[in-house]
Amino acid sequence: MPQSHKRIVIERLVAALGKDGLKTAPAIPDACLRDWSAERGGMPLALATPENTNQVSAVLRICHDAGVPVVPQGGRTGLAGGAVPSEGAVLLSLAAMNRIEEIDAASGLMVVQAGCVLQVLQEAAEAAGRSLQLDLGARGSAQIGGNIATNAGGNRVIRYGMARELVLGLEVVLADGTVLPMMNRMPKNNAALDLKHLFIGSEGTMGIITRAVLRLHPRVAGANAALVAISGFAEAAGLLAHAQKTLSGRVTAFELMWADYYDAVLAVTGRRPPVTRGHPVYALIEMQGADPDRERDDFQAMMEQAFEAGLIQDAAIAMSQREVDDFWALRDGVAEILPHWATTINFDVSVPLARIGDCVDDIRAALKDRFPALQFMFFGHAGDGNIHLVAGPIETVDPTGHGIESTVYDLIRSYGGSVSAEHGIGLHKKPWLSYSRSDAELDLLRHMKGLLDPKGILNPGKVI
Ligand code: FAD
Repeated sequence: MPQSHKRIVIERLVAALGKDGLKTAPAIPDACLRDWSAERGGMPLALATPENTNQVSAVLRICHDAGVPVVPQGGRTGLAGGAVPSEGAVLLSLAAMNRIEEIDAASGLMVVQAGCVLQVLQEAAEAAGRSLQLDLGARGSAQIGGNIATNAGGNRVIRYGMARELVLGLEVVLADGTVLPMMNRMPKNNAALDLKHLFIGSEGTMGIITRAVLRLHPRVAGANAALVAISGFAEAAGLLAHAQKTLSGRVTAFELMWADYYDAVLAVTGRRPPVTRGHPVYALIEMQGADPDRERDDFQAMMEQAFEAGLIQDAAIAMSQREVDDFWALRDGVAEILPHWATTINFDVSVPLARIGDCVDDIRAALKDRFPALQFMFFGHAGDGNIHLVAGPIETVDPTGHGIESTVYDLIRSYGGSVSAEHGIGLHKKPWLSYSRSDAELDLLRHMKGLLDPKGILNPGKVI
């Protein structure tokens, strides 16, 4: 874009947002030039920080008129490169839209602006006697708008579903600045097609999420949890089925850590192993509830039966919330491991639950065969069929990473799985999207993108 056009766009943006609402290079903070992924983008034109929906609408109108790309940014904890700047784009940060507008405990909902940090919302719901049951390791930085834009999963999907299930209503600003109010407050509203779903999981390519109505659940007072050692995946699947049956669907998390992950996280964090090492698989199983002390008998009875049935080799049962948190610290410790592994590829795949064991074995064998020097570790929200795999260091083994990715994704495809269980496509997984979506689906997606964003200004180059 010619320099004179850039100047006009910047002048119009300053007029809409005020001087404090717009930064241009070199005043754009370095942190805004990347997210948690390894992806690198271009140099943005400006960073806009609107304070309300009208300002978001004004930014989009200006950028739409001038054909300037807009890259929405939440907490930048995304792992697929979705929030990474495109060259010459206006970065649109929702950070200043961080107000909780209302908590209606009786109806079980909260109305929030998109820039609220997830953990702040969890704590506010808790204080109002309710629970916001979206939870993930990045809770302290990720914003609810980013969570909705990625349809985040996380730790409690097995009981409460993905972010999509927790969103009752949305307000979205379209590419041309039109505000689309869809702030439904009811769990039931079948008055024609529910358009909010076009934006949930669209990674900033269809519209900017500015406000949301979130569903709240009854408050939980704490949890019973155990960390268990298991002889293989078949037994782990048996344990999950047994726990779901005997606890009547009250299991809130079932996280698996294969031995390579368990050993790595203990070594890096220096934590004491809750159960003996040397087993193939470890599970963190959790049941949250309104009265954890009273519910402990049910949980322990479930565990004793699992021992008798040979589903468990060793177990540590938490006796306090602090011990529950200690188990979670092992599962969340992946962020501490990554810096020790130099450059890695982080996979976030899913396959039907019953096939996870075979799929992990096949991926492990194929990677060992093709890349003998590669280190890897498996873990994940296995109760949802979701496996995470970290492989590295790629510099010395497969510098482009393409060979490692094709080995893993070919197998995922052959198992009927998905190349992205919960992190999204962003930049990183774009080349592999057709492994999980049919040509007809992709055609329709492109048509819908053309309809909602005819000039292609919203997060260009991402997803499709
Ligand atoms: P960003 O990274 O800022 O953006 C993500 C995408 O959403 C980008 O495409 C961006 O353009 C778009 N976007 C952001 N805000 C908006 C908006 N208001 N309107 C429109 N588009 C927008 N993810 C999981 O699903 N489950 C996990 O268990 C999980 N654990 C994690 C643990 C760690 C330690 C880390 C670092 C990440 C983890 N993630 C997990 C990934 C990440 O936290 C989620 O994808 C999260 O939902 C991203 O939120 P964010 O606000 O950081 O979004």
